[in-house]
Amino acid sequence: MKLWIGIDDTDSRKGMCTTYLATLMIERLEKERVGKLMGFPRLIRLNPTIPYKTRGNGAVSFLLEVDDGRRDEVIDIAREIVEEYAELEDENTNPGVVFVDDESEVMDYLSRFALKVVRDVVSLDTALFIIGKYMIPHLKFKKGRGLIGALASVGLELPDRTIEVLAYRKPERFGLPREYDEESFFDADYETYPLTWDTVDWMNEVVVAVPNSPDPVLFGIRGDDFNAVMKAFEMVKTEPIDKYMVFITNQGTDMHLIHESEVDKLEDFHSYILKGVVTVEPYEITGGHVFFHIETKFGEVKCAAFEPTKQFREVVRQLREGDVVEVYGSMKKKTINLEKINILEVAEIWVEENPICPICGKRMESAGRGKGFRCKRCKTKAFEKIRKKVERYLDTGFYEVPPCARRHLSKPLIRMKGVKRHIFR
Ligand code: ATP
Repeated sequence: MKLWIGIDDTDSRKGMCTTYLATLMIERLEKERVGKLMGFPRLIRLNPTIPYKTRGNGAVSFLLEVDDGRRDEVIDIAREIVEEYAELEDENTNPGVVFVDDESEVMDYLSRFALKVVRDVVSLDTALFIIGKYMIPHLKFKKGRGLIGALASVGLELPDRTIEVLAYRKPERFGLPREYDEESFFDADYETYPLTWDTVDWMNEVVVAVPNSPDPVLFGIRGDDFNAVMKAFEMVKTEPIDKYMVFITNQGTDMHLIHESEVDKLEDFHSYILKGVVTVEPYEITGGHVFFHIETKFGEVKCAAFEPTKQFREVVRQLREGDVVEVYGSMKKKTINLEKINILEVAEIWVEENPICPICGKRMESAGRGKGFRCKRCKTKAFEKIRKKVERYLDTGFYEVPPCARRHLSKPLIRMKGVKRHIFR
């Protein structure tokens, strides 16, 4: 039989990573010849605004070819791996594992459920209801909240997909500073971009592929093309790699975004594409966070470009009343946290100024209330103010946050074909 295994919520801020635990599980299942991995495992990013997430709200699924009658051995091994490696002592770690027959009628249902888990907030009761109704074999540890992500990772269809190869550290080095040659990551990016992306951030001089968290991941290379991703993987110089795994993912696809035409109200913990006209011009608060407001079909909405979005704020600061924009981002505290912006129309701005004296070229002064303007020295007169168009330096098109501020699910502009775009690299 072909069996989908979905896993989630095994890690904590102190360590572990569900991708690593899944890799250990696959290794063990194959070593003991209980099952054979089919294709690549999948790293599925879920709703990025969920408060329970440890970091990137990722869950993992993989398809296993299992001899008939050996499903229970798969479940036993999965249980042992979670018991041994998951951060079970952390109160926020609540693992869930599901085992779904690829031919089961629930697969259709799960694909709709999964899209909801990427875009919406789903209760554990809903996940438990599906498990009960379709009698899905599963493992539930503690509260078992991971069952939500585990089911979603199995069910999600990927009309658009990307690749990530994840390299893992030697266990004795977990928690120690990561050793790597920064330049080699820039070289790898130079050679393989745009088939790989977000390996480094040239403008902010940061290696994005290497995390700072105390988990087993050494680095991850993302891209569209398997060969390019593997070429970059071979090029980078780091401390010894213990093991690696290639994942198919929904990273960089914008799958979390709900178009304004699909909803009749906006809610926190959801991510949107919204069109609007700038009503309150950009203002800045301590810490370098920039805000502006737009009038949308739902009323006025506050938008934010926070400090970590770096040079993206330069674009946002240039917005003026009347500009028409489309914003892309998640809503939290009734504010859209911008991931991208599409400037649709740059408003014309006119100012009125006193006229210029045609003889000396200096600006005229008022000749008194209702009496027009005059140049005292040349005795010239004029009756009306002159209107002048303000030069705007903002171009229409898409702008994005730089790679160092990119969310896992956000589609980098380099992947958006056929649109006018300004790429920060
Ligand atoms: P990492 O990325 O390091 O694997 P994480 O950020 O994925 O960690 P988890 O430890 O998996 O974080 O915690 C996320 C929890 O939220 C899981 O239990 C998952 O089932 C649940 N969850 C994910 N998406 C939703 C959703 N849309 N609604 C409700 N719960 C969700």
